[in-house]
Amino acid sequence: MNRARILHFNAALGPLDYRVPDGMTVEPGSVVVAPLGPRQIVGIVWEEDRLPTDPVPEHKLRPLIEVLPVPPLRAELRRLIEWTADYYCARVAAVARMVLSSGGALRGPSTMIEYRLSGVEPERMTPQRAVALDALQGEQASIRELAELASVSEGVLRGLVNSGALEPVEVDIDRPYPRARADFMQPELNADQRTVADRLEAAVKDAKFAPFLLDGVTGSGKTETYFEPLAAALRMGRQVLVLLPEIALTEAFLRRFEDRFGAAPVLWHSGLKATERRRAWRAIASGSAQVVVGARSALFLPYCKLGLIVVDEAHEVSFKQADGVRYNARDVAVMRGHFEQIPVVLASATPALESLQMAESGIYEKLDLPGRFGGATLPAIAIVNLTEEKPERGRWLAPRLVEEMKTRLERGEQSLLFLNRRGYAPLTLCRNCGFRFQCPNCSAWLVEHRLSRRLSCHHCGHETQPPDNCPDCGEPDCLVACGPGVERIADEVAEIMPEARIAVVTSDTLNSPDKIAAFVNQAETGAIDVIVGTQLVTKGFHFPELTLVGVVDADLGLEGGDLRAAERTYQQIAQVSGRAGRGAKPGEVLIQTRHPEAPVIAALAAGDRDAFYEAETEARRHAGAPPFGRWAAIIVSSEDEAEAKEAARAIGGTRPSLPDVAILGPAPAPLSLLRGRYRYRLLVNARRSAQVQDIIRDWLGRLDFPQGVRVNVDIDPYSFV
Ligand code: ADP
Ligand code: ZN
Repeated sequence: MNRARILHFNAALGPLDYRVPDGMTVEPGSVVVAPLGPRQIVGIVWEEDRLPTDPVPEHKLRPLIEVLPVPPLRAELRRLIEWTADYYCARVAAVARMVLSSGGALRGPSTMIEYRLSGVEPERMTPQRAVALDALQGEQASIRELAELASVSEGVLRGLVNSGALEPVEVDIDRPYPRARADFMQPELNADQRTVADRLEAAVKDAKFAPFLLDGVTGSGKTETYFEPLAAALRMGRQVLVLLPEIALTEAFLRRFEDRFGAAPVLWHSGLKATERRRAWRAIASGSAQVVVGARSALFLPYCKLGLIVVDEAHEVSFKQADGVRYNARDVAVMRGHFEQIPVVLASATPALESLQMAESGIYEKLDLPGRFGGATLPAIAIVNLTEEKPERGRWLAPRLVEEMKTRLERGEQSLLFLNRRGYAPLTLCRNCGFRFQCPNCSAWLVEHRLSRRLSCHHCGHETQPPDNCPDCGEPDCLVACGPGVERIADEVAEIMPEARIAVVTSDTLNSPDKIAAFVNQAETGAIDVIVGTQLVTKGFHFPELTLVGVVDADLGLEGGDLRAAERTYQQIAQVSGRAGRGAKPGEVLIQTRHPEAPVIAALAAGDRDAFYEAETEARRHAGAPPFGRWAAIIVSSEDEAEAKEAARAIGGTRPSLPDVAILGPAPAPLSLLRGRYRYRLLVNARRSAQVQDIIRDWLGRLDFPQGVRVNVDIDPYSFV
């Protein structure tokens, strides 16, 4: 091959052809450095027929500069990249960039300097130095990390280096990970778990594409069960990918994994340091990383011998990326399994309707774990009708829920209150003039956070300090909080039960692995009586003393324009209910609602999951909604309101008229201003027979938009704001 077509990440340019200089060999998938004008760019050699572009005459080709010392991306991954781009109407380059997200990994081996205590006493001792010497026993890391660990400045540590108390150590950045051992500690599975595990083990050994839906009630031991096929893959020397919806869940997962396999898995998430990313990326590409646990982006890593993919809590909405390439990791995971010819397990206690439908139609094989492990029973669920059992004035918890919480406190058991709203109050207004605090960049109220004394926008991150006077009328001390967030509920609990130890659990308070670990530890050792949390506490956690769950406002999720609102409400409440009574003591759930008659609430109260799914399935079938029809959203935005409106109108005005496609809009988006951009939406609702991506590409491809206009396509959208 003396010429090569290169896919690179500059979205403005198409693929480019280069000459392969004498002595260099490349193949499709090779990661190369090429000249572009005066610059050098990284790209991937691609099959020419799969990446058409205008041919460049031979004599105009510039030579490639070098081939980077990493294994070429395998054909299986290249096909996945193409499929993802095609399906989600994204650029191939944008998807490929996710694969090479760790730029530092592409260069050859290298080392770095870390420091550790040498045992030498510094000549001069200061209080700061003493603190550091004490805190750094047994630690080894970079100066910056050590400074963080010891809570001293980097200057203090540099002083210790100069005095010889800290010594440098050269470490191989790419040092191998500890080996997981398939048979380290094998648990005794119950009969249902054994049946499922055997089926999955057989599928791993079969090494063919096989999608499974593992449908097991909360507490049935899905993790223990899928650890068995995972062990089978390890014995075969194959890699395993476990996708989790949230980093907050990895902590508990890591511990269980270590107990079972004797070593930690390889982690992948956005919070990794550059050196950790690099180490993981290279180990994944070389095959030395055995098991990778990560957020959705772990899906696009260059595994060299994948044997199994598990998507845990597969129903979770966070698997859908909300910007950039708007892919759903659950669905792309299944496609990766298809290209790699391996089994994929989607595990959930509340599967998405789409997944259940795939099982129903025989495309996914369904495996069931119908009972909780170890004889624990599912909790009893009761409704608190807030129109009859009213909380006291200015309060949010009904008397019955309060009584139950007091009983738990007396018995030394734990309660969990669930409200999916961060902060203290969702709206702050002036009692005098009615002024409402709004985000300057978004059409959204500012949410008061009392713990951090801020008003903040949950859409763009804008923050300000609550003023003493109303910014509009100038009246002092006139601001009132409207509605509850978790912090306000926590305050209410503190007033009702002053002796209770309360933990507020949200992405604001649990924002690092250390804090998550500390929370889990406190909850497990009984140092917390009441947990007040957002959706972060609805899944994954296993606290045996937790026997009461209170859903503060079950109606919250049913408001607004979310077309999956009923399903999402069902899933959230079923999941959070699943935290109760997981140990020896039975659990109880109280759901506060103003609409006990709503089908989703009634189904939850009756514990009748099938009834809910049947009703929701019928409603979706009737509406031609997924999984019976397809949705795609088109979001038009610009910093200029008129320009956005005009572009949306142009799109609407050229809509194709097809028998199997209905197009709604354009209409101002519910969030009509977001991060300073005015937004309009269209919703495409197509029959399954329609080639919806082709239709949209063709439709939008014929239009030209001013520079400032962005037109984003969201296939299978989960967000409707
Ligand atoms: P799920 O994910 O299905 O809600 P978990 O995997 O969290 O359930 O399991 C619930 C609890 O039961 C966990 O503490 C888990 O360690 C325990 N468990 C499940 N299966 C077994 C088993 N076969 N042997 C020992 N403990 C088990
Ligand atoms: Zn904002």
